[in-house]
Amino acid sequence: MVPVIAGLLASIAVQAEPPPRIAIIIDDLGYELDAGQRAVNLPGPVACAVLPSTPRGRELARAAHVAGKEVLLHLPLQSEIDGMELEPGVIRLDTTREQFARIFAESFESVPFAIGVNSHRGSLLTRHPGHMGWLMEEISARGDLLFVDSYTTPQSVALRLARENGIPSVRRDVFLDDDRDDESIAREFDRLKRLATVRGLAIGIGHPHPETLAFLERELPGLREQGFVLVSVSEYVALKDRADARPPAAGTGAATAN
Ligand SMILES: [Zn+2]
Repeated sequence: MVPVIAGLLASIAVQAEPPPRIAIIIDDLGYELDAGQRAVNLPGPVACAVLPSTPRGRELARAAHVAGKEVLLHLPLQSEIDGMELEPGVIRLDTTREQFARIFAESFESVPFAIGVNSHRGSLLTRHPGHMGWLMEEISARGDLLFVDSYTTPQSVALRLARENGIPSVRRDVFLDDDRDDESIAREFDRLKRLATVRGLAIGIGHPHPETLAFLERELPGLREQGFVLVSVSEYVALKDRADARPPAAGTGAATAN
């Protein structure tokens, strides 16, 4: 083949394939103003997930919104490991439906500009379809909100219930900083990029630790040059919903669920 034509065809092939998309959420905002402000100032459309009824939550949610960042209500749900008693607004297994509605309303009110909800901890509560059903009722009742399952247990039913309730929703792929040292954060960030390359889309969650913030400040500006596109959480959810709704390719042998 004439080299010019071969080159042209190759470039068309490259253009036809959309670049891998990555979304990032910074969780647990609301306590420390400096760290929170630094998360708000991260380059690109990184989402800011704010804990309800926290000393700096309202202020940081407003700052994030002003900076053009999407805000999520980071809703505390009971985990398997106790010690969440001090967390304001935590929803527990023994929370009644009535209490649930009140806690959710207060929490939602305390985080202005929230475009959705993601779960904080929750390794116990996200396994319970009853409570997750209540959560999705509260989310649905407030119109156009999205939901991100932080996925702290493989037994979580949150994503399934969100989708059954027609809520645009996704599940977290990677925690960037379960270990806070630079090497681990770099390894998890690489894993996020690999997942995005293979699947077209991947979403990671980090926390406002100095190590994570420094890493993202350094790495995010170079993503595009490496062929990745950093997208907002709402764009990510829309793309992922569309991708998941696509019928599986012929011959993949997907089982029919009855
Ligand atoms: Zn959290």
